[in-house]
Amino acid sequence: METHFSKTQLKDSNNKSSEKIIRKCVHCGFCNATCPTYELLGDELDGPRGRIYLIKDMLENNKPANEKIVKHIDRCLSCYSCMSTCPSGVNYMHLIDHGRHHIEKTYKRSFYDRFVRNFLSITLSKSIIFRIVAFITQFIKPLRFLFPKKIREMIKLMPSNFPNKTLPKMQLYSVQKKKTVARVALLTGCVQKVISPQINEATIRLLNRHGIEVIVSKGIECCGSLNHHLGKNDRAYEIFKKNILIWHDEYLKNGLDAIISNTSGCGTTLKDYGFIFRSNNDLKKKAKKISELTKDITEYLDENVKLNFIKNGENKYRIAYHSPCSMQHGQKVHQTPMDLIKKTGNQVFEIPDGHLCCGSAGTYNLLQNDIANKLLKNKISNINKINPQFISTGNIGCITQISNGTKIPILHTVEIIDWYTGGPKPTVLEKL
Ligand code: SF4
Ligand code: SF4
Repeated sequence: METHFSKTQLKDSNNKSSEKIIRKCVHCGFCNATCPTYELLGDELDGPRGRIYLIKDMLENNKPANEKIVKHIDRCLSCYSCMSTCPSGVNYMHLIDHGRHHIEKTYKRSFYDRFVRNFLSITLSKSIIFRIVAFITQFIKPLRFLFPKKIREMIKLMPSNFPNKTLPKMQLYSVQKKKTVARVALLTGCVQKVISPQINEATIRLLNRHGIEVIVSKGIECCGSLNHHLGKNDRAYEIFKKNILIWHDEYLKNGLDAIISNTSGCGTTLKDYGFIFRSNNDLKKKAKKISELTKDITEYLDENVKLNFIKNGENKYRIAYHSPCSMQHGQKVHQTPMDLIKKTGNQVFEIPDGHLCCGSAGTYNLLQNDIANKLLKNKISNINKINPQFISTGNIGCITQISNGTKIPILHTVEIIDWYTGGPKPTVLEKL
């Protein structure tokens, strides 16, 4: 695609990178075919190609965003399905991140929108605040019909109970009576550790059982992606920098073989720290190292751990695998989790139209509930075609979203692997 950025504009590293991305686009439109919002809404501007044009126009003409642009960019899920399809290697992820930040800088949203977005930005990235808000929300759930639609949907999605923790609150989960074969840091996730602590517990148990020491670094809870995708770069960069410095210090002082992510949305952002800080002379090397060390838990297990399956073949379940967008399109990790589950002796089925988002997409199901609900409905209908006994996936956002549309139990892939290598049976499967 032809671009018209001036030399002065190209001195800005974000413009320079976006120009390169836009130039790669040959406007073939292949990406539209796999874009969930284009498929649902049928509007060129609700597909990747149309959005690329909107962002290009805004950036090269140095134009403030307007209502029309904001509407179509806000509707993008950042699912990156378009990146998997694009034959020209257009990095839509970096472009839309730049576009969202430009909107945040140049467009004044309504008071209500600003309130909702700030509320999400502050509440979801701090687990203590999220816990307090979720606790209070339990009491107002019966009265949610009194609130405006977006707030009603948010209240509906808030957890009604908090599972009991089974592992002590520690920073270092060391390996006893066994030689330590590796040492990793675990990102426990801001929302995940509150609503589904069993996922981190299964991860730590599983790694410890295989001789891997796990450190949960004090001071790290959010990866920063939530604010990044809301275009709130100041808040996001504060979190990014803190995480980079803490983990890099740990890497230098005590050694780290990997940084493990078991929330694929967060993993995608950690793997992008190197790009995000590419022009920051103080942090670029450290950020690059953090990105290189980051692995999704399934990726790490597959590449580094000889798993000792001890219950292999005991029971045969029909499992539907939901491939989170951030995992399959963002990190290109798709087949590995299914292969790992197959090793437990169970049957795994990929959900039809599995490249399409379930509608979770970070805060999307809270901000764009109509589209998110349609995507959820389609996802559930595709899951039902498999008739599974339970569903497996690798992202807390997808777990929350999908469990709002079906009574079929859903759990994280790592809980299955933990169970089949000596861990407890996941409580959501008690009745199976
Ligand atoms: S598939 Fe790639 S090259 Fe073709 S229009 Fe979409 S982004 Fe551009
Ligand atoms: S990220 Fe997803 S929703 Fe956004 S343009 Fe690409 S395919 Fe469409």
